[in-house]
Amino acid sequence: MSNLPVTERDLFVVGTGIAGMSAAVYAAKRGLSVSQAGSTGEIVFSSGLFDVMAVHPVAEKKLWENPWEAMAAVSADMPNHPYAHVSREDVEKAYGELFDFLSEFGLEYRMEKDANSKVLTPIGTEKTTWAVPATMWAGVEAFKNNAPALLIDFEGLREFSAKQVATTIGEKWSNLKTMRLEFPDSASMKPILTGIMAQSMELKETREKLYALIKPHLNGVEAVGVPAILGIYTTGEILEEMEKELGVKVFELPTLPASVPGMRLKSLFEGRISTLGVDLKLQHKVFSITPLDDGRYEVTFGVQAPTEKVVAKGVVLATGRFLGGGLYADRHHIVETVMGLPVSQPADREEWHRTDLLDPRGHKVSSAGVEVDSSFRPVDENGKVVHERVYAVGSLLAHQDWMRMKCGTGIAVASSLRAVEAFVAQQ
Ligand SMILES: Cc1cc2nc3c(=O)[nH]c(=O)nc-3n(C[C@H](O)[C@H](O)[C@H](O)COP(=O)(O)OP(=O)(O)OC[C@H]3O[C@@H](n4cnc5c(N)ncnc54)[C@H](O)[C@@H]3O)c2cc1C
Repeated sequence: MSNLPVTERDLFVVGTGIAGMSAAVYAAKRGLSVSQAGSTGEIVFSSGLFDVMAVHPVAEKKLWENPWEAMAAVSADMPNHPYAHVSREDVEKAYGELFDFLSEFGLEYRMEKDANSKVLTPIGTEKTTWAVPATMWAGVEAFKNNAPALLIDFEGLREFSAKQVATTIGEKWSNLKTMRLEFPDSASMKPILTGIMAQSMELKETREKLYALIKPHLNGVEAVGVPAILGIYTTGEILEEMEKELGVKVFELPTLPASVPGMRLKSLFEGRISTLGVDLKLQHKVFSITPLDDGRYEVTFGVQAPTEKVVAKGVVLATGRFLGGGLYADRHHIVETVMGLPVSQPADREEWHRTDLLDPRGHKVSSAGVEVDSSFRPVDENGKVVHERVYAVGSLLAHQDWMRMKCGTGIAVASSLRAVEAFVAQQ
C-alpha cells in the first residue's frame, strides 16, 4: 500500500449522497482543493423534495406549517439534535448555495420562504416539505386552491395511478379530474417505467405526440399534472415548452423511488461537480483514513481494493446511515464503518426496536449515529473531540429520526456547510 500514488488535497469528502455532494460544492466554491469518493447514495431514492423540518414531536405527529418555528422547537426540546448546532441562517445559506449550483445547470426549486408546502405523493397522501422542484410547483398551488386540474396517468405504467391519487385526496381537491393515455411509442417500451418515459421526453418527437394527445381534454382545465417524466437533462426547457404548447400550467407529481427527480439530482451532481474542480471518484470506496503526525490524514481508496492515496488536511465523513453504508449493525453493536468512530446508540440491542413496528414514537435505532460538537467534529462519550479536522455530516449524525421528522436534506446541507466553514476557519 505504501507504493500507491499520492495526491495532496485540502479536503477529502467521503460519500456522494446529498450531504457529500453539498459539502464538495461548498468547499470547492471556497477555493479548497477537494477529492471525493463514494457510490450513488440515497439521492436516487429521494423524491427530489427538500425538507427543513415538518414533524415534531414525532410521537404526536405534530405537523408544522412554519419550518423555522419547527426547527426552533426541536433545538429547544432536543439539545443533541443536529439542528441544535445550527441556526436558521445556516440552513438558508446552505440551501441558497445548493440552489445556485443546481440552477446553474437547469434544476430550479420553488418554495414559500416561511411556510412548508403540501405535495401530493404517488398514493395521493399529502407530504409536507419545504423546497419543491419547479416542475411540481404548479401542482402545489393548484391543490391549495382546489383549482380545476387534470391528472394524467399512462396505460401500462404500474408506478402511478391518477385515479388512486384523486380517490385518496378526495374532497380536498374535488376539482381534480383524471384520465389515462397511451404514452407515445410505448409499445416498444417493456416494461413501461417513468425513467424510460423521461428519457423519451427528451425527444421533441415524443413531446409533440404527447401534446397532441392531451390538447383535446383541456376544456375548463387550469393545470395538467403527470407523473415525474419531464426529462432528465433538460427538464426546465421541457416544462416551459409544454406550458406554452398546452396553454395551461403543467406540474409533475413525485413517483415511487427510485424516481426521476432523484435521477435528475444524481445525474446533475455526478456530471457537473467536476466543473468546480472537485476530483470525484465515483463507485470508489474509502478503505482507510489514518491520522498522520503532521495533523493531516492519509485516505486510501479504490473500487475493490485501495489503489490510490490522498493526503488531506481535513476529512468530511458523509457516509450516511445503514443504507448508505456509514453505519453497520453486528449482533451486539452499531459501528461506524470508516474510522471506527464512537456511535451513540442504545446500551442494549433489546432497546433498538420497540415491540410495535408502527409505534408512533419510532425506534431508538433510527436515532443512532455519530455525535458531534458545534463544528460537526465527532466526539466521544465524554464529549471530547476525536480528530481535530474530521467532520461528520448528514444522516450519519446521531439524535435525528429524519424520516419521521421530515428534516433529512435540511440536516444534510446545513451540517455540510457548517463543517466546511469550520474547516476553513481552522486553517
Ligand atoms: C426513500 C427516501 C426518500 C427520501 N425522501 C426525502 C424527502 O422527501 N425529503 C428530504 O429532505 N429527504 C429525503 N430523504 C433523505 C435524504 O435523501 C437524506 O437524508 C440525505 O440524502 C442525506 O443523505 P446522506 O448524504 O447523509 O447519506 P446517503 O445518501 O446515504 O449517502 C451516503 C454516501 O456515503 C457513501 N459511503 C458510505 N461508506 C463509504 C465508504 N467506505 N467509502 C466511500 N463512500 C462511502 C455511499 O456510497 C453514499 O454515497 C429520503 C431518503 C430516502 C432513502
